[in-house]
Amino acid sequence: MDIITTVSDQQKYCKSIISGDKGISLIPTMGNLHKGHESLFIRSTESDNRRIASIFVNPLQFNDAKDYTEYPRSIENDIKILEKHKIDCLFMPEVKDIILDRENKTECLPDYMSKLCGQYRVGHFNGVFEIVKRLFEVICPSLAYFGRKDYQQILLIRYIIKKYFDNNINLVECETIRDDFGLAMSSRNIHLSVNQRKQSSIIYKSLCSIKDQIKKDINYNFDKLRKELVSKVKNENIRVEYLELLTSENLSKPSRKKDENLTLLIAFYVSNIRLIDNIQI
Ligand code: AMP
Repeated sequence: MDIITTVSDQQKYCKSIISGDKGISLIPTMGNLHKGHESLFIRSTESDNRRIASIFVNPLQFNDAKDYTEYPRSIENDIKILEKHKIDCLFMPEVKDIILDRENKTECLPDYMSKLCGQYRVGHFNGVFEIVKRLFEVICPSLAYFGRKDYQQILLIRYIIKKYFDNNINLVECETIRDDFGLAMSSRNIHLSVNQRKQSSIIYKSLCSIKDQIKKDINYNFDKLRKELVSKVKNENIRVEYLELLTSENLSKPSRKKDENLTLLIAFYVSNIRLIDNIQI
């Protein structure tokens, strides 16, 4: 596997691939790789593109400096995992090389990006926007792999691809991978004890139960379902930050029409660890 650490070397590498008539598949990550990331690497074997993974802990998307410094990093093990999956190239740029000074210009993101995580982590999605757009500019992928675990992020990637890349990048949306307790895999789970992970299994179970109730009865009372979930998980020392049922397309309020695609999205704290999850209805 080639390991590239500068933007200019990465651009040269990608140019030579594209001029040689191959396409590029990009799998961006922040490292500390787990089975969720691995599912993206496995999915990316579907094409004969060159497969490039990036590892970059993006300071712009952390609204808490401590959260950024404490974000788990495990590069040696990550390299082993990437090699196991026969990834062709790892791009791991330095902050000052990849982040451009755009004279403090902030992209005005669509309204739905200021809801949910956009509301509770102010500036987070502008940080994700900056880095993903830059990675796409440097690497010029024809395929890009992202997980639906970060569903609001998926909406942002769709927006970037449509607005800045003329829909010329195919976004491959990958299903959420869960641990044996049903907890969505996340690099942050490393901070949880086995017991806390067991306790957190109540989240996925409760989301599934809400899904069943909504499917059974179109006259569901979501406020009541939310209240029940919040009090049930409180017994497991889990605090819910938000729980919303919104349209999958643009996170607007459901109209209760039968054919509408809805997503149930949650952010919650186990001790001081913030996690997110969602399921499609
Ligand atoms: P991260 O390193 O957390 O920025 O994640 C990198 C990519 O892996 C993103 O597209 C995530 O949505 C995806 N990802 C993270 N966890 C999971 C998971 N449990 N299942 C599927 N994809 C995931």
